[in-house]
Amino acid sequence: MTIGVLALQGDVREHVAALADLGEAARPVRTPGELDGLDGVVLPGGESTTLSMLLASSGVGDELAGALAAGLPAFGTCAGLILLATDVLDGRPDQRSFGAITMTVRRNGYGRQAESFECGLDVPALGGEPVPAVFIRAPVVEAVGPDVEVLATLPAGTGAAAGRPVVCRQGPVVVAAYHPELTGDRRLHQLFVELVKEHRETRR
Ligand code: GLN
Repeated sequence: MTIGVLALQGDVREHVAALADLGEAARPVRTPGELDGLDGVVLPGGESTTLSMLLASSGVGDELAGALAAGLPAFGTCAGLILLATDVLDGRPDQRSFGAITMTVRRNGYGRQAESFECGLDVPALGGEPVPAVFIRAPVVEAVGPDVEVLATLPAGTGAAAGRPVVCRQGPVVVAAYHPELTGDRRLHQLFVELVKEHRETRR
């Protein structure tokens, strides 16, 4: 099984390390050809506007759009979530998003005071202890489509943002508004790896 990590900008190494902890040797994706043969792809956090430009200049954007439309499993964190969404508010007008998960997101939507914060998230699908979640100039998920399963919302005590979806899934696409790759908790990466495996079985 081969999982790729989009390696144009952002916290690529951290995702590769998280997958390595789970026994998956991830392949960095910098060119369109490096998408060939992937069973899943991770879109890391970084800056979605910069990523969008690099997707265009590298030629990876169009290939990736095709692969996602054909059902390639994907895991997007923070800026990666923005890239996978259908609708982006407060983005650059020319910024690209792939529409792989039906949601409206607002870039940097948690406001200045709360540009970065941490909390413990209850994610029933992952079981056990709360998941440590680091939010860095995170996107706010403002609305989700009927096919989106909300796996976690911000807990009480996070002010006006409480109740916002922060981990979601639609088919083989998982997104998190925070940075699971920055903590040692690998449960969300594990969930994605399992999903990629299942998806691979069903395509055989
Ligand atoms: N604010 C960034 C963006 O718009 C996302 C931040 C992040 O990935 N940490 O792309």
